[in-house]
Amino acid sequence: MTGAMTFTEPTERTELRAAVSAFASEYGQEYYRARAKEGAYLTDLWKAAGELGYLGVNIPEEYGGGGGGIGDLAAVLEELSAAGCPTLMMVVSPAICGTVLSRFGTPEQRQRWLPGLADASTIMAFAITEPDAGSNAHRLTTTARRDGDEWVLNGRKTFISGVDVADAVLVVGRIEDERTGRLSAALFVVPTDTPGFEKQQIEMDLLSPDHQFQLFMDDVRLPADALVGDPDAGLLQLFAGLNPERIMAASMSTGIARNALARAVDYAKERTVWRDTPIGAHQGLSHPLAQVKIELEQARIMTQFAALRYDSGDDAGAGEAANMAKYAAAEVCVRTVDQAVQTLGGNGLASEYGLGAALTSARLSRIAPVSREMILNYVAQQSLGLPKSY
Ligand SMILES: Cc1cc2nc3c(=O)[nH]c(=O)nc-3n(C[C@H](O)[C@H](O)[C@H](O)COP(=O)(O)OP(=O)(O)OC[C@H]3O[C@@H](n4cnc5c(N)ncnc54)[C@H](O)[C@@H]3O)c2cc1C
Repeated sequence: MTGAMTFTEPTERTELRAAVSAFASEYGQEYYRARAKEGAYLTDLWKAAGELGYLGVNIPEEYGGGGGGIGDLAAVLEELSAAGCPTLMMVVSPAICGTVLSRFGTPEQRQRWLPGLADASTIMAFAITEPDAGSNAHRLTTTARRDGDEWVLNGRKTFISGVDVADAVLVVGRIEDERTGRLSAALFVVPTDTPGFEKQQIEMDLLSPDHQFQLFMDDVRLPADALVGDPDAGLLQLFAGLNPERIMAASMSTGIARNALARAVDYAKERTVWRDTPIGAHQGLSHPLAQVKIELEQARIMTQFAALRYDSGDDAGAGEAANMAKYAAAEVCVRTVDQAVQTLGGNGLASEYGLGAALTSARLSRIAPVSREMILNYVAQQSLGLPKSY
């Protein structure tokens, strides 16, 4: 969407939200939990949502996508999450990988990957985090060297989501500039069946169908066109994926918070333990719920604002808004789920209500894809002009 700033979402977006919400309610929390407990992915939901075009709303129409913006894709993820089906793979596959390839892929790369991302028949994971680099992307050691017509990739990655269901991984590495010898960022599309590419699942205390993996890349040989776009534009490509990533992460958090808040409110209206007064009448419970409702709407507006700026082509302006939205959404997500657990008393931790597991999912939003502290660093330095400590 382009044009004037507005705090009212366009009609098509509102209709998209309603359609996705109705679709997701047929799956809901029980489906999500059952799949997660089986160690299985949300394959049915993903496939059906893909066929309906929900997972490729941001991919250009010429490749079979919806031709919309990140605001549309974020609305889809928020509604899925609010219905109890948050999936990290939406942050990764259509948002990060879809954006990077749409904006920077060569015509051949777009043709090869975008139609599959548009109907979600292709899933692409995204790998930047390394064991010895963590939040510091300048310390990445995954390196590609040129060997004739091929690239040879070596490195390790960690906490990479969804490699078990992915057809390919968009790997952030570095290449050596032949003239200067300097290492510069470069993105490679690595099909998961490439020889030398190995994965190992990390045991996590998260009840989620999205699994995390360590990746081992030992002399992974890739064709020349595995390198995304222009070799001189690696950093630009990487940054282009980051604002969509933060906007999507924020939307997943606000969706999880909406889900928890709705369940807490329903419970607080019904449950009575003193005479006939529902527990929701006690201000010790109603005020904290009202507070998170206010903060949730603030985070949602900030997220929509960030998406609007991004979709109107203002990458620089979107950066600050996307970081702030991601921070606000993660904070309110943690607080809302915590208050929802409190509202349900013992039932807050009973498996039947599913809020105990939501505590860890909510907690994740403060850590990934970018930690709370790294956002505060960004705002301290970029928005406030304060000096850097690291
Ligand atoms: C469930 C899950 C899914 C994930 N999926 C993916 C994925 O698909 N792809 C991918 O590439 N990565 C993924 N990640 C990795 C995630 O992005 C990182 O965990 C995150 O960026 C933090 O990096 P780290 O864990 O190495 O922490 P570290 O960088 O080691 O940081 C540890 C702590 O130190 C703080 N810290 C670090 N530097 C500073 C500083 N300068 N100032 C103040 N505090 C600082 C951090 O904020 C954090 O609190 C995932 C992680 C999880 C848990």
